[in-house]
Amino acid sequence: MNKHIALIFISLGMFACGQEQAPAVVDEQLAPYITELQAQAAKYGSAMDLTGYEVKIVPSIGNNVIAQCAQPSDPDSDAAREISVSQTYFDQFVAQAELDSSYRLSGLTSYGLSMALYLTLLHEIGHCYFRRDHDNTKVNNVPASSMNAYASHSWVRIYPSLLDAYNRNMFGQADAVALVTAALSNDAVASVDQALSIDEAIEQAMNEEGIMLDAHDHE
Ligand SMILES: [Zn+2]
Repeated sequence: MNKHIALIFISLGMFACGQEQAPAVVDEQLAPYITELQAQAAKYGSAMDLTGYEVKIVPSIGNNVIAQCAQPSDPDSDAAREISVSQTYFDQFVAQAELDSSYRLSGLTSYGLSMALYLTLLHEIGHCYFRRDHDNTKVNNVPASSMNAYASHSWVRIYPSLLDAYNRNMFGQADAVALVTAALSNDAVASVDQALSIDEAIEQAMNEEGIMLDAHDHE
């Protein structure tokens, strides 16, 4: 009797292996970020099954690009999806978070992770998994979503409620402008001038150095 049951389990297991795509392959240094993204996705009602994904750090993406996702044009295709983060920016973001606590995630289920790296991966997941394009809509000069083509982490440092707004917009499909409007009134920040100058500095630096969050528009 016991033998019979064991055989059934083995054959079911083999059948399942043949039917499924490869499980997600995630670089161990990026794994805590993917875990956190999945925790936020679950919180706002998205399963975010990354079966068939590879999430990795690569020596360089070229042209000062921070990250990118490669995906099949057919959303139903079983072909691999690849999310790549440049080693240079990975090192920079992690070092920044180690030196200055305002660059670390807070208020989520994990602490100490780089906010810039989390938001970069949220952005790439937006392209690859949720099939979203860039959206440079702003509310009072603040990016309305993490799909802004420019890095938005400096704004989250100034308005901490933006992080939840960006997560809720991505995973809960809630309206970006309404969420960000609420987040901005929630965080009564006096230093709007400071925020504006930081935003201008980011855009200027990124333009001058030719740094792109990713090359999604140019694929
Ligand atoms: Zn992008």
